[in-house]
Amino acid sequence: MTDTHLHLDDPKLYENAEQIVAECKQRGIDPLINNSCDFDSMQKSVLLAERFDCVFATVGMHPHDSKNFDGEFIAKMTEYAALPKVVAVGEIGLDYYYDLSDRAVQRDVFAQQIELADKFGLPLTLHVRDAYGDAWDILRAQKRHLNNGVLWHCYSGSAEFARQAVKEGHYFAFGGAITFKNARKEDVIAQIPIDRVLSETDSPYMSPEPLRGRVNSPLNIPLIVTKLAALYGVDVAEAERAIAQNTLKFFPKISLYRQTAD
Ligand SMILES: [Zn+2]
Ligand SMILES: [Zn+2]
Repeated sequence: MTDTHLHLDDPKLYENAEQIVAECKQRGIDPLINNSCDFDSMQKSVLLAERFDCVFATVGMHPHDSKNFDGEFIAKMTEYAALPKVVAVGEIGLDYYYDLSDRAVQRDVFAQQIELADKFGLPLTLHVRDAYGDAWDILRAQKRHLNNGVLWHCYSGSAEFARQAVKEGHYFAFGGAITFKNARKEDVIAQIPIDRVLSETDSPYMSPEPLRGRVNSPLNIPLIVTKLAALYGVDVAEAERAIAQNTLKFFPKISLYRQTAD
């Protein structure tokens, strides 16, 4: 099983990283993709990828931190993007729910990072909340830079929006939120073919049921895959296989790294 979005660098997990990764390995949870949010977490993501064979990293600035996007950050991002275990630009996008950075700044930084990802030849991991219309407009305006794939992490948009994004070849990652009792994901899932879906925990956040409210960890990924299997009406082994394949297809640098590491 695969966890395409987590934050092992978060203090809630970092202390136990060694033990968590060892246990993931034992249970066949591999690869783990550690997502960057700011300068500090980007550095830690890269260090975690260096330290653990099954951990990969993304580079990029979260919309919450857009106000800190500067030349120093871009220089570091560019340096790291060339590393063999840096597999995507993320998490980038727009968050109008928390509004922790000015919306115009968020839009500008999102557009800039799409261009950078294209320069690096890396796919995009998007974080979008309450801003699907503006995110879509920016993606359309930047269409010539969308050459390496688009992934909607923690997808919370409508079924109709998903239908449009599927037509554009986009992928979707689901985590703990799909296990919540009031989550009506059937309509959304009906629009997304099983070959476009990925599993994630976003740990330490977003614990799935029945662990809601506790610190999340990548060890909870089976709860997500089991729920996805039920939503798609396939057995867990089949969902596992499809998701693993999709992960390697969406993040080609993982296979590339493994071939050269062998
Ligand atoms: Zn996010
Ligand atoms: Zn995240």
